[in-house]
Amino acid sequence: MASVVNDGVFIVLKRKNLWAPWRIGYIQGLADKNECFICKNVGTPQDDDKNFVLWRSKNCITVLNRFPYNNGHLLIAPARHIPDFGKATDEELLEMNKLIRDAQKALTLAIKPHGFNVGMNLGRCAGAGLPEHLHIHIVPRWNGDTNFVRTCSDTYLISQSLTELLTALKQTSAEHGLPAL
Ligand SMILES: [Zn+2]
Repeated sequence: MASVVNDGVFIVLKRKNLWAPWRIGYIQGLADKNECFICKNVGTPQDDDKNFVLWRSKNCITVLNRFPYNNGHLLIAPARHIPDFGKATDEELLEMNKLIRDAQKALTLAIKPHGFNVGMNLGRCAGAGLPEHLHIHIVPRWNGDTNFVRTCSDTYLISQSLTELLTALKQTSAEHGLPAL
């Protein structure tokens, strides 16, 4: 329990715990700085389901983010271990842009978002968890999806399991001629 005096008003804050045991994988992963999970995913096609790899295309890989900001959070990355657009070929740049289009289509069909955030964090100071390997975030958004839990405690509520989402997106991709493994 903590006490705070704010403008003469005495406030008692009672701590509550919100358990998120799945984050231990992320926290432990941070310790292993030498491993690039995108390169690991690229090199282990036999583990695609376990690694939540959605698509493999000529120069890129598209995976579900294991630690999503929102349901349906995808990562699109070149297969090559390059840090930014400056090192990408024209072919890779074009393919990544096509995959943004395809990801938006697949997610729209499968889980019907109202909008998207599409973007990159370049450099660790900009929030990149893996600054050495370029990747584009596709984050579906719904009206009203920012709620008090996220605002007050930096906690994200995800409404669907990664396994269920992967299955739905694979099925949608097959039905609509989108990329595959
Ligand atoms: Zn890499």
